[in-house]
Amino acid sequence: MTAKRPARPLLDGSLLPEPAQLLEGVNEKVWIEVIQKMDEVYNDLLQYEVALEQNNAALEESHRFIASILASMSDILVVCDRHGAIEEVNPAFQRYTGRDEPTLKGTSIFDLFADDKARDKARSFFASQSHDGAQDVELPLQAEDGGAVPVSFNWTPRLSGTGKLIGMVVTGRPVGELRRAYRELRQTHEDLKRTQQQLLHSEKMASLGRLVAGVAHELNNPISFVLGNVLALKRYAGRLETYLEAVHNRGCDCIPELEELRSELRIDRILEDMSPLIDGMIEGAERTRDIVDGLKRFSALDREAAERFNLAEVVQRAVRWVAKSAPPSFTVHTELPAELPLRGSPGQLQQVVMNLVQNALQATAAQPGGELLISGELGDRELRLTFHDNGPGIPDEALGHLFDPFFTTKPVGEGTGLGLSISYGIVERHGGRIVASNHPEGGAVFRLTLPRDLPAA
Ligand code: ADP
Repeated sequence: MTAKRPARPLLDGSLLPEPAQLLEGVNEKVWIEVIQKMDEVYNDLLQYEVALEQNNAALEESHRFIASILASMSDILVVCDRHGAIEEVNPAFQRYTGRDEPTLKGTSIFDLFADDKARDKARSFFASQSHDGAQDVELPLQAEDGGAVPVSFNWTPRLSGTGKLIGMVVTGRPVGELRRAYRELRQTHEDLKRTQQQLLHSEKMASLGRLVAGVAHELNNPISFVLGNVLALKRYAGRLETYLEAVHNRGCDCIPELEELRSELRIDRILEDMSPLIDGMIEGAERTRDIVDGLKRFSALDREAAERFNLAEVVQRAVRWVAKSAPPSFTVHTELPAELPLRGSPGQLQQVVMNLVQNALQATAAQPGGELLISGELGDRELRLTFHDNGPGIPDEALGHLFDPFFTTKPVGEGTGLGLSISYGIVERHGGRIVASNHPEGGAVFRLTLPRDLPAA
């Protein structure tokens, strides 16, 4: 029986001959074996071809991958043989040197340094340390424009399979950019520091300006009337002198003349005026003293020795003091525990409470039925006092300035703007804090928190 096979293409495209076309007289079994062997060989060949193509594709892919990595490297990369002849470069190196790949290939790496000193250094370095490699060697590379680009180089030896040195892989990072970035960073840092200092300085100057303006404003009034009174007294003293001289010289025998002089010099008016003038001067001097006292307390010049006391009593006392000068329409309610043990200065804390009550009184003065609720709470470690009035509350723009010295919204003569800033200082020196806010249902709220006096363990 003759096996009927379709014609098969061979690798070169020709067709496999039909057995009958081959040798006559060879028996069919042999032919079948030959054909099977040829089939196997043909299949193997096909598989090799497919594998080859796959390997080729993988190789091309990894070539492209490596090329893309080399192209996107910002650092420079040079591969050279053991004598320094360049074998491979990346695009960054081409950019920095301004030469293309074919020009660079085969060139000695030493010729690419900017000066002889760098070349010699690179050569001796290459010769002596070639087996170990080196890190961060800074040498100038000749740039495209003929200038020098400082580069920090790393040299890594390239070894053969048997461990023999076959060349060097040189990578490098131009440090000019780094240096410039570092310089810019330092400059920015310096600028920032200067701006901060200026800000601090102008902030200081602004508070100093406010302080000076406030002191000037406050002292101006009492001092001007002390001065006015002193000038009047000086004039009066001249007239009194003239009159007394006349009394002295003429004696008692010229009473009518003295009477005339007395009325001419308005001695009686002077005598009447003397007492209020002196009172005014005393008042002016006292107000000046109070302002100075306030300033001293503000700057914490006079600290009192700490003592143990009950803050609840201090609050009640402060309320009584303010109530003396308050209209009957103003009511203060207190909800305080019997004991609010504190350690510090009762006098200073009384000043704080009086100031808060006084402020509530002034804030509610324009409305009928001003009220203030002072509630106290004793915690394990802290004690809290809350002052809530039913006044108009604190305007948003004032909230951030309440504790600034001389910040006041009151008319001249009614407020110094020192009360809350002094209170703030006192509370802080007692280890506590004071915060102001507006109550959601209206009115201002001042919360005072102080560390309670704990019984000795
Ligand atoms: P002064 O009372 O002399 O103005 P303070 O430092 O005691 O100084 O107060 C500063 C400002 O805080 C006041 O002028 C006022 O505007 C505001 N203030 C204080 N307490 C209250 C309050 N209970 N309600 C509304 N505003 C207040």
